Amino acid sequence: MYILLMGPPGAGKGTQAANLVQKYNIPHISTGDMFRAAVKEGSELGKKAKACMDGGQLVPDEITIGIVRERLAKPDCAKGFILDGFPRTVEQADALDGILKELSISLTRAVDISVPSDVLVERATGRRICKKCGATYHIRFNPTKTEGVCDECGGETYQRADDSEATMKNRLSVYEAQTKPLIDYYKKAGLYSEIDGSQEMSKVFADITACLK
Ligand code: ADP
Ligand code: ADP
Ligand code: ZN
Repeated sequence: MYILLMGPPGAGKGTQAANLVQKYNIPHISTGDMFRAAVKEGSELGKKAKACMDGGQLVPDEITIGIVRERLAKPDCAKGFILDGFPRTVEQADALDGILKELSISLTRAVDISVPSDVLVERATGRRICKKCGATYHIRFNPTKTEGVCDECGGETYQRADDSEATMKNRLSVYEAQTKPLIDYYKKAGLYSEIDGSQEMSKVFADITACLK
């Protein structure tokens, strides 16, 4: 199963990727998570990525394509993967085609989680993440039992710096301009499936697994 999870910021890609990992036992590859890990480490990559992420802009294609190329070449990706948040530009999609060709992999499906933008702002601004295990919560739609404490591991939850209302505006306009063209890209490739991401989480998951059959 070689799955692309597409969709605007806050659509539920990370949430559904976690469910897919459980079901299919394949790695979850999130470029956003990889950049956040690099920022935390304070590496050169992290410094470059941070400036872009804080402003809600994309990290340059050549950097992003490089880290995905390296990751997909690792042995655990041979049996499948869930690619979350990549590609985000046509240039990235073209590069991905080349990388997959080299690896003799064909994509199973490009799953687009579609959600109206007013809902996205509420989802992103209410998002909370566990510092320790990365579990994702929402203050309204999926709250922790104790405020600020992860149900899974007891770790502290935090809010991403770019999950403010102001930065979300930039991220949504970047999505419209640079990422939305990928809908046609994957329609033309015969791989595109649109999922109604405004439904409750379990229904979204059921629709995703149905389209993978
Ligand atoms: P979201 O979960 O809201 O969709 P991500 O965690 O995927 O956001 O990404 C956070 C930020 O990381 C993006 O706003 C962007 O700056 C950077 N980023 C993630 N993936 C990519 C990508 N494929 N190309 C360029 N930048 C990316
Ligand atoms: P993405 O990775 O696409 O940016 P996330 O999976 O992190 O999105 O979800 C964004 C926020 O919305 C999180 O706080 C998550 O708990 C919440 N969320 C995800 N899916 C749904 C849903 N179907 N209904 C309500 N809230 C959701
Ligand atoms: Zn946790």
